[in-house]
Amino acid sequence: MDISIVVPVYNEQDNVEAVYSALSETLKGMDCTYEIVMVDDGSSDGSYGVLARLASEDAALKVIRFRRNFGQTAAMSAGFDYAQGDVVIPMDGDLQNDPADIPRLIEKIDEGYDVVSGWRRDRKDTFITRKIPSLLANAIISRLTGVHLHDYGCTLKAYRREVLEGINLYGEMHRFVPALACQFGARVIELPVNHRPRIHGVSKYGISRTLRVILDLMTVKFLMSYSTKPIQLFGRWGVYTMLAGLGSGAMTLYMKLFEHLSMNRNPLLILTGFLLFMGAQFIAMGLLGELNARTYFESQGKPIYVVKDRINLG
Ligand code: UDP
Ligand code: MG
Repeated sequence: MDISIVVPVYNEQDNVEAVYSALSETLKGMDCTYEIVMVDDGSSDGSYGVLARLASEDAALKVIRFRRNFGQTAAMSAGFDYAQGDVVIPMDGDLQNDPADIPRLIEKIDEGYDVVSGWRRDRKDTFITRKIPSLLANAIISRLTGVHLHDYGCTLKAYRREVLEGINLYGEMHRFVPALACQFGARVIELPVNHRPRIHGVSKYGISRTLRVILDLMTVKFLMSYSTKPIQLFGRWGVYTMLAGLGSGAMTLYMKLFEHLSMNRNPLLILTGFLLFMGAQFIAMGLLGELNARTYFESQGKPIYVVKDRINLG
């Protein structure tokens, strides 16, 4: 299998058929073997019915249905797990991404890149609630992860499958795959892609996503920099805090001896206790982190979803 397309679908009953047809048309013109894996993320509309009908006529369309809505990241993750192609290409199920961009993505993969990330240079979404927050988030992500892309949020990307194998996704983390992949030495490149306004159905996200993305960014940054050595982060702050506590203690003593200020009337004594206690907590947290890191790396990863149905997957 050359190419696997992975499409997360949540309440897109008026879009899935058009997405499927456009994809089939592009892929058939490409002289390659392919599959289209559509993941119904617990839709409450007729999406699954449409998918089941389409899949009954085409064995290249494979469908996974979640028991409930687990979120776009989980849906993509399921698609990645089942995908068999050498190149895996996720794409939105709302026609906002353009299947006609796929040959260009593949070209870049053939040039030797492991990850080709779509860049919606001319993004067709609302300005205030979507484009501005995304501009900000992209700048922060670029800065913190050190993987410089303009548009992390674009679903349309192409991955060499090996790249995805070591990566488990949680929360809103699908957008961080290029950054995580880079950690494993993947070659990442960005490619401007077409973006279209949503015609049928509604967007599943609003401004609140920005906060979720920022929180996930903290996780990713931590995982990228300290997941194998949490004591280096927490222990460092523990030591700094304790040193500050000792300084404050010395100050209290100095004030008692030379300025005749009784220690129990000096608020610095309380600060001393507080800082020493906090420092010890930080160090303990670092040690617990070390323990957790061992569990994390040495135990087996569990899937983050529960599958209800599978079509054409045996
Ligand atoms: N999606 C999903 N599960 C969710 C939310 C969204 O599978 O909980 C899918 C949705 O059907 C679409 C893609 O993820 O195919 C992107 O969602 P959307 O178009 O709402 O996001 P936007 O383009 O507005 O950022
Ligand atoms: Mg969309």
